[in-house]
Amino acid sequence: MHLIVAEKNISARRIAEILAGGKRVSEQKDAGVPTYHFGDTVTVGLRGHVVEIDFEPGYQNWRSETATPRSLIDAKTIKVPTEKKIVSLLQKLAKKADRVTIATDFDTEGELIGKEAYELVRAANKKVTIDRARFSAITAQELSHAFANTTELDFALAAAGEARQSIDLMWGASLTRFISLAARRGGQNILSVGRVQTPTLSMIVDREKEIEAFVPEKYWQLALDFEKRGEVIEARHTNGRFHEKAAAEQARDRTQSPLIVKEVRIGTKQDRSPSPFDTTTYIVAAARLGLSAANAMRIAEDLYMNGFISYPRTDNTVYPPSLDISGILNTLKNSPFKKDVEWTIAHRRPVPTRGKKSSTDHPPIHPTGAATREMLGDDAFRVYELVLRRFLATLAPDAQWKTMKVLFDANGEEYTTTGGQLMESGWHAVYPFSEARETLLPEFVTGEKLPIKKVTLDEKETLPPARYTQSKLIQRMEELGLGTKSTRHEVIAKLVSRKYVEGAPLRPTLVGRVVTESLEHHADTITKPDMTRTLESHMQLIKQSQRTREDVIRESRDMLHRAFDQLEANEQVIGDDIRNRTAEEMNLGKCPVCGGTLAIKHLRGNTQFIGCSRYPECSFNIGLPAAQWGFAIRTDEKCEKHGLNFVRLVRKGARPWDIGCPLCHQINSNRESLEEIPSADKELVDRIQACHIYTVAELAHSTTEDLAKKLGISSEKAAILTRDATVVLEKLRRRSECRKFMRDRLIPRKGRSYAKILAALKDAGITDLSLLAKADPATLKKAGVSDAETEQLLSDAKTVYHSQILKEIGIPAVSLKKYIAAGIVEPEAFCTQSPASLSEKTGMSLSTVQKHVGKVCTYLKKPVPKKFSKLQIERGKKQLLAVSGLSTPQVEKLFKVGIVDGDALLAADPVSVAAAAGIPEQKIRDYQKVLKRKKDTAIIQL
Ligand SMILES: [Zn+2]
Ligand SMILES: [Zn+2]
Repeated sequence: MHLIVAEKNISARRIAEILAGGKRVSEQKDAGVPTYHFGDTVTVGLRGHVVEIDFEPGYQNWRSETATPRSLIDAKTIKVPTEKKIVSLLQKLAKKADRVTIATDFDTEGELIGKEAYELVRAANKKVTIDRARFSAITAQELSHAFANTTELDFALAAAGEARQSIDLMWGASLTRFISLAARRGGQNILSVGRVQTPTLSMIVDREKEIEAFVPEKYWQLALDFEKRGEVIEARHTNGRFHEKAAAEQARDRTQSPLIVKEVRIGTKQDRSPSPFDTTTYIVAAARLGLSAANAMRIAEDLYMNGFISYPRTDNTVYPPSLDISGILNTLKNSPFKKDVEWTIAHRRPVPTRGKKSSTDHPPIHPTGAATREMLGDDAFRVYELVLRRFLATLAPDAQWKTMKVLFDANGEEYTTTGGQLMESGWHAVYPFSEARETLLPEFVTGEKLPIKKVTLDEKETLPPARYTQSKLIQRMEELGLGTKSTRHEVIAKLVSRKYVEGAPLRPTLVGRVVTESLEHHADTITKPDMTRTLESHMQLIKQSQRTREDVIRESRDMLHRAFDQLEANEQVIGDDIRNRTAEEMNLGKCPVCGGTLAIKHLRGNTQFIGCSRYPECSFNIGLPAAQWGFAIRTDEKCEKHGLNFVRLVRKGARPWDIGCPLCHQINSNRESLEEIPSADKELVDRIQACHIYTVAELAHSTTEDLAKKLGISSEKAAILTRDATVVLEKLRRRSECRKFMRDRLIPRKGRSYAKILAALKDAGITDLSLLAKADPATLKKAGVSDAETEQLLSDAKTVYHSQILKEIGIPAVSLKKYIAAGIVEPEAFCTQSPASLSEKTGMSLSTVQKHVGKVCTYLKKPVPKKFSKLQIERGKKQLLAVSGLSTPQVEKLFKVGIVDGDALLAADPVSVAAAAGIPEQKIRDYQKVLKRKKDTAIIQL
């Protein structure tokens, strides 16, 4: 069997479809992982890296005395599977294969992913042939060429990737731990530091400082309007910027009609067609369509996987001679851009344009297949069109402009105006993304005199340098050798998600700035691009087998140790500095009670809330949802009423949750609950809130005297108020418990929301678990819950609700678990089944079960069954089972009504036993006869 390993599932499927060449491809699933089969060939997709490197065990505890942040520099690393199902399937398939072809993406990362697959295959099958197929587009032509010319895996290239992985882990983990511990931050609040990330952040911070330090300078510009054939035209003074106002005013005052044409220069200008796209120029062009760098790359990768464009991670801007440009043009005739393609074929330039960078790995980004808007959706189609039109533009002729520059004299002052006319549109005809703006001027003759209509002197100021846009930053990173074409956009996305930078264009947040400045001050190797640029050049050397991976890692280790020498010596200062300067970013404004400062507080674990700086003197606080719903941060917006900054909850991969003014939120979300307190009318609720009591809990926990004094009511009334509040609080608790119960169990689905379902249940009067446990299934169905879900929900509700009661009664949690596992959930079951059978079902000792049964029966006000020893029970059971006609289920029934041996049965009243145990009276009499006979015989034998 021939096994082909692709980088992702989608490429595995495409490769199978193309290589099968019309034969049927069958999809099979193994533990949820799809494989594609045709003939004797199987393709399987990885999920990028299926293993990751991590430190060997023993380094998990951040606060360990021995495994310090510095110790991570020299810590050994191991490879851990991250996609266990794929790994085990790959190895299973490898055992059966006689040839394995690695067909991962063709770049450093892809080679490393390929090497990981290689090692997994080798571990499972020592002898199998493993080769490598390299291609830059998932198209029939590229694939058939690649699979006909497979080579060896490039271990040097993979080693370069591994070196980067190890070094990134070592720098990132050790520095992140060091800085976070120094600043006493943990959990969601850690301060991350990275090899590429930190110098990039530093660039953004530096730019911000330049902007702040910028002192604008005034300058003056002089222009005039003149008229020709009824058209008003502007001309500018040839001096450009005047730096002195007096000089500008003199020139203005000298400017007098007529304006005399001194010289007319007519020329032509060649407007060269653009060069092919590499990753950076592509990202810059996509930014003009409004796409962020990360989005642009995601869409391009999707298009690549589906065979519509070539591999989007490339530094090459020169089409290789092997690229079949005419073939591609023919294919593109089937796209919606047929007309533009035909125009390009008809006007094609002899040689395509070329950029400055040429490399051999991938061609520049170009289209490889025809697609329509219906196939791709709007965003992907826009990107496809951009790539396709760029390709056409690189094949289209240059544009030709006619230029005109006119020089004028106005009483000794020189003015000029320029015009441009597109004579041949060339590539502009197929590439509308860069506009060709014409300025048409009428004809002028030297010596011509024209009337001046108006002279204007504008005062202007020099502008600070602009903040980086994402695409500008990527260009700058490329110039500085920071990151790679594959990682630059990811680094920027990380800085945003870690709340170090924000906005478009990018500006640093306070934390971003403080961390950078602190590092710059104490260990500037970490913030400077030099170190990381050196590493990039070392990576090149590894690729060319001129240096080894170990050697490069060792050098990086030494560099990091030197940085730690400085950092550790200044740990206290760094920590204090970061803490003092970032505390401010959590301040929201004045405490409404005492005038202190309200600030967001993050505790260990997931707890966060808003508290007052004068705590414990002032206990005012506002609760916040746990941090797993989003880490609370302050935003720039302020509440007009309370003067507090707004609060936002941010969570990775989720839309931020805007709470707005925390006090307004607190007031509004608790008003309804306060109004549920029977002894508080609307007027009293107003008064309660005016005293800065906003929640039912605060009210319930107030002392009577304090409350009476604050609200100006009698202590009797205050006592009633707190008692009522306690009742409402319990009701609220049960309601929120019920909400959480539903939320935990209902899978989010399109078109239904928890809010809707909960509102429907509330209307039906179901607000807590006890009511839900007894609810009519029809009510749930009407609220939008499916049949299967309803059944599960009701049964879960019963279990949860009943076990709460049993817990209250005093059944320990461990025992409760055993009862639930045995299907004994309702408290009533403890009174209807015999302790003996409960003991048997749960495996707990009889005496324990009898104790529990006693408690439950007492609680339910039912008679407590008589206690028997285990021995008694067993002997009794044996006796009863010896009676002919008595089967185990019937013995069980008798046990339940307290008849646990032959004597008891013999002495029982047949009528009442029959009724209680549900056995016909006649049968009982029969059993008694048998027993009596047996007893008599026994006596005779004696
Ligand atoms: Zn306060
Ligand atoms: Zn407010």
